[in-house]
Amino acid sequence: MATNPPEYNVTGIDYADRRHFAYPGPIIDFHAHVMVTRPGDPPTGPPLGTGPGASLQQAETMLDVGSDFGVIQTVTMCPVDDVEPLRERFGDRLVFNAMINKKTVDEPDDTALANLERYLALGPKVVKLWSAPRGRERGLFIDAPWRIEAVRRARSAGVRIVMVHVADPDAWFRTVYADAAKFGTKADQYVGLEKMMSLFPDLIWIGAHMAGDSEHPDHLHRLLEEYPQFHIDTSATKWQVREVSPRAEAHYRLMCRFPDRFLFGTDLVTRHHLTREHYVSRYWCQRTLWESTWTGPSPIADADFTPAEGGQTTPKLHGLGLPDDVLSLVYRGNAERLLSLPVV
Ligand SMILES: [Zn+2]
Repeated sequence: MATNPPEYNVTGIDYADRRHFAYPGPIIDFHAHVMVTRPGDPPTGPPLGTGPGASLQQAETMLDVGSDFGVIQTVTMCPVDDVEPLRERFGDRLVFNAMINKKTVDEPDDTALANLERYLALGPKVVKLWSAPRGRERGLFIDAPWRIEAVRRARSAGVRIVMVHVADPDAWFRTVYADAAKFGTKADQYVGLEKMMSLFPDLIWIGAHMAGDSEHPDHLHRLLEEYPQFHIDTSATKWQVREVSPRAEAHYRLMCRFPDRFLFGTDLVTRHHLTREHYVSRYWCQRTLWESTWTGPSPIADADFTPAEGGQTTPKLHGLGLPDDVLSLVYRGNAERLLSLPVV
């Protein structure tokens, strides 16, 4: 009986074959979730954060695989309680990104701000505003007054960088977000972002996951042109493989036009029961997409991809083959510049 292939390798590819990699130097992963894991954590969604069986094994595995792909430093979003154990084990290999969130819509602003203060005391370099459309029910609007206050406090504490998750794949706006009255249109998602960038022009803003719009490189071009402090991370591997590949030329031009505004990221998440190959698949696809001209079916299962009849079951990965000087900025130089900005 045939067993289903694992999500991290549906095409049976040999991930040890890296002859197409072109970039020799080290890489900084600006977007990941390296956390303490526990056996009782749910398979998706946030981990428990407390309870028995706390382990750094997955963090160890992920960073070990990362270093095999040249990753020397990772910016992680993790619960505040994870910062000290992670720092103790991994030192400077990790940099911290503090999430400014509420668990429920009723959570008082003061609770969210108190959580942030605890995090700020640990010296994060980045703060994160997660504002996907599905967060609207929890009041997670990017420009909610309590978040404006949170960003002010972060800035006073020396944080210079704000990462944002706005929007989601176009495909989701046709399905899970089809109710525009509830979730807003895709264009609506960017109104608050632009407002925040205008309110805080002295801060660096990073649009996670190709700023949520790899389907529209022309839109990304406009944002980069209008907001000189705006940057973009390459994370969310399945999404970028699926949507950057068919627009490889446009993205190549965009990244070469603004080489100092893109940051390598994976969006890898440590989870208690993951296998090493899961991490391998994301690093391999990210590097393949940006630095090589490799083309072929993506090795990763993608539920958001609609196969043509009788066609491939995964989207085509079409590598951009970015020039060396652009790669060295996207992979490392830009991250180093942002992480060493002086506190004002
Ligand atoms: Zn993420």
